[in-house]
Amino acid sequence: VTPDIVELLRILVRQDTTNPPGNEQQLAEVLREWLARWGVESALQEFQPFRANLIARIRGRYSGRRLILNTHTDVVPAGSGWTEHPLAAEVRDGYLFGRGAADAKASLAAMAMALVQLRDQNLVLHGEIVLAAVGDEEVGSLGTRALLRDFTGDAAIVGEPTGRRLMTAHKGSVRPVIEVRGRSAHAAHPELGVNAIDGAAALLRRLCSYAGELGRTTHPLVGPPTLVPVLIAGGEALNTVAARCRITLDRRLIPGERDSDAVAALQNTLERFCSEHPRYAASIVEFAPTTGGPSETPARHEFVLTCQEALRRVGQFKGLGGLTVNCDMTHFRAAGIPTVIYGPGEPSVMHKPDERVSLRELELAVEAYVAMAAEWSTRSHG
Ligand SMILES: [Zn+2]
Repeated sequence: VTPDIVELLRILVRQDTTNPPGNEQQLAEVLREWLARWGVESALQEFQPFRANLIARIRGRYSGRRLILNTHTDVVPAGSGWTEHPLAAEVRDGYLFGRGAADAKASLAAMAMALVQLRDQNLVLHGEIVLAAVGDEEVGSLGTRALLRDFTGDAAIVGEPTGRRLMTAHKGSVRPVIEVRGRSAHAAHPELGVNAIDGAAALLRRLCSYAGELGRTTHPLVGPPTLVPVLIAGGEALNTVAARCRITLDRRLIPGERDSDAVAALQNTLERFCSEHPRYAASIVEFAPTTGGPSETPARHEFVLTCQEALRRVGQFKGLGGLTVNCDMTHFRAAGIPTVIYGPGEPSVMHKPDERVSLRELELAVEAYVAMAAEWSTRSHG
């Protein structure tokens, strides 16, 4: 009997890990059982009630460096517009459908399978290879933050749907919540108040032109930074001129940008807006959670070259790329760990109805993870 990756992916997709609330512990327990059946030991790391990471490892014959295969177990809400049930994990025309099929349970299934194969291949490994299946990547990265509090590694591969392209950079985000303040009055006498909703409308036009300016800079792997209003809420009552209106912005950062600089530039824009529209006050009042900032590993880094070489050896190198969305790589880079992103599934299916992954891609990803891990871990690194 050999482990079946399609069966494993179906098991993982059928576990509802919609975040919020996540409930990743149940999936972690199911995966622990699956790994144990194929002889790989693992342990749960709880980071909140009912929420846990799973950490599995295989140790080499010799001491050496630690490689972490990291991916997330939580998924975004299914939303509407599906033709397949998002938790059914149906297979049709060579694709497996479901929320998380690509982002990132395909990576998780492929990494788990790779770990079993690496252990069975009788390779002379140096150091250890760790699978870290973490929770909460989609909201606040609580899982990876908890993992890296008392754990580290010498290199990491983050599993996300990259279309099996090796990626060395990704965008990050910061989400300021802006409050526009006016003055309330009876809705029958708007001339006595200052309507914060009107102020927000004027501010949105200003932010739109600021977003256009951002498009003038760009990064070779991930493209330009962006700014988009994502939530708006204002007003207090049906019969009252609105005193307050809040706009939440999603500002995507490219490697090289710091969130503090992006926030300072936004604050400048707000100050200019207020001096031109003295009836209104507008300021950043809080920040909504994000996965974190942008990050990059230099393309000439030994680990990137090793991964590239391994992918070439199995005929899978497609050139380097960058991920336009956020991922947990940022936390590995902040901890000084050289990191790449690689996984099955196209980036274009993420967070959409009828998310799917090609079963052929899934098999190729197992081969790629095995090749990269073996290339890195069979070297003694002097
Ligand atoms: Zn993801």
